[in-house]
Amino acid sequence: MQNTRTSASTISLDGVGRTYTRGKKSVQALTNVNLTIRQGEFITLFGPSGCGKSTLLRLIAGLDTQTTGDISVFGATPKQASQRKDIAWIPQSSALLPWLDIRSNARLSSVINKSADRAGKTTRRPEDAVELLNEIGLGDFLESRPDQLSGGMRQRASIARGFAQGAPLMLMDEPFSALDELTRDTLRIRLLELWDRHKKTIVFVTHSAQEAVLLSDRVVVMSPRPGRIHRVVDVGFDRPRSWELTDTPEFVAKVAEVKQVLWSAWEGDE
Ligand code: ADP
Ligand code: MG
Repeated sequence: MQNTRTSASTISLDGVGRTYTRGKKSVQALTNVNLTIRQGEFITLFGPSGCGKSTLLRLIAGLDTQTTGDISVFGATPKQASQRKDIAWIPQSSALLPWLDIRSNARLSSVINKSADRAGKTTRRPEDAVELLNEIGLGDFLESRPDQLSGGMRQRASIARGFAQGAPLMLMDEPFSALDELTRDTLRIRLLELWDRHKKTIVFVTHSAQEAVLLSDRVVVMSPRPGRIHRVVDVGFDRPRSWELTDTPEFVAKVAEVKQVLWSAWEGDE
């Protein structure tokens, strides 16, 4: 049964829960998650490890199925949306094919899309992979293989590949967590530039309050055991955002507010 907020322009979660059962033991990872995400929005799921962020993202991706509630992605179930190539998944580590150069890796998704097209499964138009690699600053490395690049460059290539799929919804699970702080700073701004130019909806998982505030329109603060939404914080800074924003008192205050909301959710736990 689909809920009343289902619309072709939004992602909606209605009473979503996920319980993992292994033998006699069961873990309630998520309970009663209600959220509507607007098309073109940049939203982050924020909280420390174990609060169900990845579980929630996997449910939206159609990689897993909820045990209660409904999820609608642009008017379809997550699995249908995924089949018609409406969803791109950007993993934590770049997961590039080691024997292909960066250009071929970034083009891979469009090749897959074309064969899905021939099978009548998608109408998604892949975007120009080389242009995206240029936009993300890898124009001079098109013929390099992944092992010839730094971790940050590999992750840039992975992001370009995700955008090249042409999917309107991009799901990113802590994509910068394995990178050093300086590389992370650069990639956050690069990601914002791509998002602004290509008009995607992004659901982004992080455990960094600063990252959440810099990137998002809204920060979804999760609470633990079982994971649920504690509060949704509006960020509200003008776009486009640059690194200078992070030095302003308003930014520092917003990061403190998001952390405060998180601590209030975790009070009494342990
Ligand atoms: P986060 O991404 O916020 O760190 P997860 O979504 O990975 O959190 O996990 C939430 C909870 O669900 C944790 O208690 C975790 O141990 C449990 N969990 C996640 N995946 C599985 C699984 N496949 N089987 C059993 N328990 C799981
Ligand atoms: Mg996780």
